[in-house]
Amino acid sequence: MEVIREKADMRAWSRRIRRDGKSLALVPTMGYLHEGHLSLVREAKAHADVIVVSVYVNPGQFAPSEDLSTYPSDLQGDLLKLSQTGVVQAVFCPRNLYDYDTPGPLSAPPRHHFSNGSGEKQAPVSCLEKERCDGTHETWVRVERLEKGMCGASRPVLFRGVATVVTKLFHIVEPDVAIFGKKDYQQWRIISRMVRDLDFAIEIIGSEIVREADGLAMSSRNVRLSPRDRKQALSINKALSEAKVNVSKGSISSQDIKHRIFQTVSDSGGRIDYVEIVGQESLEPVEKIECPVVICIAAWFGDVRLIDNIEIDVPAV
Ligand code: AMP
Repeated sequence: MEVIREKADMRAWSRRIRRDGKSLALVPTMGYLHEGHLSLVREAKAHADVIVVSVYVNPGQFAPSEDLSTYPSDLQGDLLKLSQTGVVQAVFCPRNLYDYDTPGPLSAPPRHHFSNGSGEKQAPVSCLEKERCDGTHETWVRVERLEKGMCGASRPVLFRGVATVVTKLFHIVEPDVAIFGKKDYQQWRIISRMVRDLDFAIEIIGSEIVREADGLAMSSRNVRLSPRDRKQALSINKALSEAKVNVSKGSISSQDIKHRIFQTVSDSGGRIDYVEIVGQESLEPVEKIECPVVICIAAWFGDVRLIDNIEIDVPAV
């Protein structure tokens, strides 16, 4: 298994693979890998000859107030897990994806604020802009409608950062296929839409959520839950599973279903960020559950924000 740290080396490696007539799958991650990530690797094997996993915690998708500095990492552990799968040929773990050969306006004095063009000062919005106050990176990809609701409403820089870093990874690795987890449902839909709208020649696969034995969706952030919060967090999966049962029994009012989820999670001690019932493709909220929907939730347990969702394919009759 190759460990590649430079963009140019990664691109050269991928191109060699493709020259040999092999297809390539990319699994983008932020590391601290768990069984959910490894399930994406197994899914990738079903779609391509060669698998590249990227491990990069992207400062462009964290607001300065968010948990970039406490995001867990363990590159050596990740490399071991990936090599033990026996199917990963390369791991791309760049030190910094925003280093460029051609400099930005580095001669300008450091700026802690940016102009929005009208002379008004604006605070930097992501950790990238905060760290790189020379403004050397200034190009962002936005999927304008899909990025707005749910996680995008609570974390306004998240999807701009995700779409941009995934675009960069796609240009560097040039995969045929990329695998994303449905755990980050909105992210998966946004990347799929971006690829369609911008004509990337890459197939996007959505892979099912992997859960702990007790139902908690696996997440790198779970390690930061206290034992008490972890127990309380089980209410998320409980509430979502109950909702699915209730829909199958004919309960189709989104408001009712959302209310019950809210109660279950709040009663357990969680603080709901949002609960939404949206069309699976459009991500538009529905009033009645009469078409394939996904119920998406984000909730805080202590200082850890967790997300989860459940697809409901069979409409109630
Ligand atoms: P992250 O490292 O959290 O950015 O996640 C990298 C990829 O793994 C994303 O496509 C996630 O949706 C996916 N992923 C994370 N947790 C899970 C899980 N429990 N089940 C399936 N996929 C997951």
